[in-house]
Amino acid sequence: MTPLERALRERIQAEGPITVESFMQACNDFYYVTRDPLGARGDFTTAPEISQMFGEMAGACLADSWKRAGAPADAVYAELGPGRGTLAADALRVLRSAGFAGEVHFVETSPVLRDMQKQAVPTAHWHERVDDLPAQPLLLVANEFLDALPIRQHSGGIERRVMVAAGGLAFDRDGEIIESSPARDEAIASIALCLSTKGGTALIIDYGHAKSAAGDTLQALHAHRFAPVLDKPGEQDLTAHVDFEALTRAASEAGAVVTRVLAQGEWLVRLGIHARAQALSRANPDRAGEIDGALHRLTSSDEMGTLFKVMAIHSPDWPAPAGLE
Ligand code: SAH
Repeated sequence: MTPLERALRERIQAEGPITVESFMQACNDFYYVTRDPLGARGDFTTAPEISQMFGEMAGACLADSWKRAGAPADAVYAELGPGRGTLAADALRVLRSAGFAGEVHFVETSPVLRDMQKQAVPTAHWHERVDDLPAQPLLLVANEFLDALPIRQHSGGIERRVMVAAGGLAFDRDGEIIESSPARDEAIASIALCLSTKGGTALIIDYGHAKSAAGDTLQALHAHRFAPVLDKPGEQDLTAHVDFEALTRAASEAGAVVTRVLAQGEWLVRLGIHARAQALSRANPDRAGEIDGALHRLTSSDEMGTLFKVMAIHSPDWPAPAGLE
């Protein structure tokens, strides 16, 4: 039994069943604070870890928006859950070469990952919460951040909970599941308020669906394989699909403009990832096969191209970012 499972069982025995939201929050808080989950030896691999092209495309998109908004000098680069800092380093290379000289602000709770981010971007400033970001124009990226925030699940109008039964953890009800996520809505509302009052653009990239729909999307990943959700609490990554329609609602209510939701593959192609791949291959002929493989993983619909979605939230005074107009 994992240490967290023992603690959760004691809590449930003392207080009664806990919500899926409390369970997911407890598991992921423990999980992220205690390890680097990324890469071949971890539990999952993300787009920026596949290729530098991903962060470069995000950086180029933000650099273009920033220039077309008049290149405000007080804008800052911000990232939510930057992992190893790889995306930020790749995006900032492009932003710096476009003349952006602003500060870098990261929202990250994991001390293990903060250390890695410090290696990648030594000048960054760190924050515990989205609300703590500076009230300045934002050039923000959140890649696979929202899927890690806790969700609530309801079945037949009753909130689904985790209980102790037959000596193990079990859900207290099944049936058609409706998911919601106050934690995501709050994070997005906070960003949208800053964008609508101070300016800026946020790129939200995650796996999920463009329209709200019923269904149980909570899943666990361990060593790159799906695992039962209630197994090994705190030792595997818990995620749930992001409902982009719900995010759109939260951002619009806070006064920001929301773009359409595009599949990641289409977005990267529109931004010119093929030309970037060709240039990289010409400069590194021995790596051409690897670059082509990464291009396929990022864009093709049998890999990350369709399941992952991209949406931007921006200030009413800023233009819609390239590729998402
Ligand atoms: N964006 C990175 C990492 C994705 S993993 C990439 O694409 O590679 C999720 C990231 O969000 C990790 O950095 C994790 O530590 C962070 N994170 C998860 N929950 C968080 C929370 N509640 N507050 C702040 N950061 C969180």
